[in-house]
Amino acid sequence: MNWSALGFDYYKTEINARSTFDGEKWSELVYTDDEYIKMHISTTCLHYGLQAFEGMKAFRGVDGKVRLFRPEENARRMQASARKLCLPEPPVELFVEACREIVRRNEKFIPPYGSGATLYLRPMLIGTHVGLGVKRSPEAMLIVYCSPVGPYFKGGMKTINVVIDRVQDRAAPRGTGDVKVGGNYAASIFSGTKAHTEGYSNVLYVDAAEHRYVEECGAANFFGIKDNTYVTPKSPSILPSITNKSLRELAAHLGMKVEERPIPVEELSTFVEAGACGTAAVISPIASIFDLDSGERVSYGNEVGATCLKLYNALQDIQYGRSEDIFGWTEVVIE
Ligand SMILES: *Cc1c(COP(=O)(O)O)cnc(C)c1O
Repeated sequence: MNWSALGFDYYKTEINARSTFDGEKWSELVYTDDEYIKMHISTTCLHYGLQAFEGMKAFRGVDGKVRLFRPEENARRMQASARKLCLPEPPVELFVEACREIVRRNEKFIPPYGSGATLYLRPMLIGTHVGLGVKRSPEAMLIVYCSPVGPYFKGGMKTINVVIDRVQDRAAPRGTGDVKVGGNYAASIFSGTKAHTEGYSNVLYVDAAEHRYVEECGAANFFGIKDNTYVTPKSPSILPSITNKSLRELAAHLGMKVEERPIPVEELSTFVEAGACGTAAVISPIASIFDLDSGERVSYGNEVGATCLKLYNALQDIQYGRSEDIFGWTEVVIE
């Protein structure tokens, strides 16, 4: 197995976990090697976007142990997504137990330490009510599956170029931007595809109401660094990233100030570093931001900034068991 050559794509593993909610209670977890689900053609998740998902990773550490990173945070975020879509909320313990077991039962697909590859876990929740009208789904299914994924950065951390393109809004202020649901991705696929075609890694989305404030960078949160301060946007239409939350806590621990507040586009040029953060890459340092409307480009340089590097290493050291987990963020799943 050439782990380092893997990309971010579906790779078949052995076992996935499922639990169904029949309108009253969640079933015991069922483990299966079946990659398919049989579904009625009029199932609500297929028509009205009644679905939510999560993304997390299992890491084979320097000590050989396998760790999950803050899985309860993902469980609670899935509950928040479920609440917003009026879907049944999977209990935290059910969610986390499914994640643990999926890691254990697919142990041979966990990439070795040092390969840079990880086991990506994809929990998903779908409304399974069969009907035709737009209404809530009292029945649901939780599925947790996994797939080994290659190192995000092949050959070292790299900076990315992003674009501010107001052609499409990702999420409205009182919409679903703050929960992890497929509809947000549907609403960003056009602008994302356009950006890729034009050579950018991602769109830096701005707020839908005024198109003036920075929101998210593709499917990752945004942060800027200046004056020993970690600044990240505050907005009701941003998905609360667990990576961002962890970086804020790490930054504070490392003696930096942390600010969560609206960031106007004009402020971008005052940062000395900027980055996109999320489970997939931890941090993608940003080299430049091009604003299509004004034609202005803000450049931070192609070199990875010292603060981005420091935060990235501090978080990865905890995830891979290289430093003491002083925050209690990791859970050892395989000793
Ligand atoms: C999942 C996601 C993120 C990153 O969240 P993490 O918990 O850090 O992985 C950021 N923005 C969006 C829109 C997302 O869907």
